[in-house]
Amino acid sequence: MKSSPSTPTHPLALLALDGLLGDEEREIRATVRAAADRELRPHVAGWFEKGEIPARELARTLGGLGVLGMHLEGYGCAGTSAVAYGLACMELEAVDSGLRSLVSVQGSLAMYAIWKHGSEEQKQRWLPKMAAGEYIGCFGLTEPDAGSDPGAMRTNAKRDGSDWILNGTKMWITNGSVADVAVVWARTEEGVRGFLVPAGTPGFSAPEIKMKLSLRASVTAELVLDDVRLPADAVLPGARGLSGPLGCLNEARFGIVFGALGAARDCLETAISYAKDRTVFDRSLASYQLTQQKLADMAVELGKGMLLALHLGRLKDAGELTPEQISVGKLNNVREAIAIARECRTLLGANGITLEYPVLRHANNLESVLTYEGTSEVHSLVIGKALTGEQAFR
Ligand SMILES: Cc1cc2nc3c(=O)[nH]c(=O)nc-3n(C[C@H](O)[C@H](O)[C@H](O)COP(=O)(O)OP(=O)(O)OC[C@H]3O[C@@H](n4cnc5c(N)ncnc54)[C@H](O)[C@@H]3O)c2cc1C
Repeated sequence: MKSSPSTPTHPLALLALDGLLGDEEREIRATVRAAADRELRPHVAGWFEKGEIPARELARTLGGLGVLGMHLEGYGCAGTSAVAYGLACMELEAVDSGLRSLVSVQGSLAMYAIWKHGSEEQKQRWLPKMAAGEYIGCFGLTEPDAGSDPGAMRTNAKRDGSDWILNGTKMWITNGSVADVAVVWARTEEGVRGFLVPAGTPGFSAPEIKMKLSLRASVTAELVLDDVRLPADAVLPGARGLSGPLGCLNEARFGIVFGALGAARDCLETAISYAKDRTVFDRSLASYQLTQQKLADMAVELGKGMLLALHLGRLKDAGELTPEQISVGKLNNVREAIAIARECRTLLGANGITLEYPVLRHANNLESVLTYEGTSEVHSLVIGKALTGEQAFR
């Protein structure tokens, strides 16, 4: 005799992981989740379909929510724990990776670069308005011929008296065409340095990249620098060499470790609900062993990914997180998230290919997440080097 169905458990409740969070972390998560569900989720499929977002309005909404640079101290930033920041990234990415990207690039790349390496004057000028979402920032490191290997960059800055003259092209820059300030990394005689380039500076333009099949609810642009003249105080005084931009990338990668799980969670919740409602061969899709095996495997990976993210978050809050550990988190959690998104898509059948449901949108977005902030291959090489002591990058 078949037993009657019992009350279902949410995939993340299986391991009772909420018990690992503090009250404030749970509160921040609940606030971000409620705002994201109210103000972002209803619009996101439309933004994705059009390939357009109301970036300025969104930045103000996210600034009002307090998530822009939320893990930084001072200058209008909330100074939360790294775990709280990770949980916010997770809630935003549960709506769309593009929206989390806006927040990551603003807070962990552009604001962090200024916060960590900027002069007091630069911090006062940019950070409070960036935290409020009144100014948008972008971070230009990648170039058409220098992605995984930023040391191959060609963009250069030369001194002309006390001024700097910048020339070069940056590629795939999130927020690029809507940014009020671009953090641009360039080769100089003193090694790689970071420059703050305000929008509207003569010789600087940021054409938007169109025809994307992934991260469509996010602005991506080229940055073109054609004899851009900047004053001496445009350079970030605290950053010299590639360690400057690479340190910023570690901040953003940390947010992705949590964020990618948000996309996976949204897919899994959708698939479970769909499987329970959908009848195939006279029974609910959820009642078949093949379906349950898929759901069980996905819930196991989601739970493991969450444990990993929380562990890395606690290490970060203790000031002990290493770049290799971030690589473990980024590699695993993005790889598992994309696998979950694709598997959930199978459970939705034909409905899975539409924007009525979020799963293929998430899967498509995660293709970008797999590539940016260090590709999976690059993170494997980082871990391989840690394990063997031998670098295999070149
Ligand atoms: C939507 C989107 C937004 C982005 N936003 C930003 C941004 O805001 N700012 C920014 O600076 N950049 C941004 N990027 C760029 C991103 O960081 C780069 O795309 C990424 O670093 C990879 O560089 P690439 O595309 O040039 O690929 P490549 O470096 O050319 O890599 C191609 C392939 O070669 C592999 N590979 C590379 N090196 C090795 C090796 N040593 N051994 C074996 N395989 C290797 C890679 O893993 C990959 O599979 C964004 C990208 C996307 C797609």
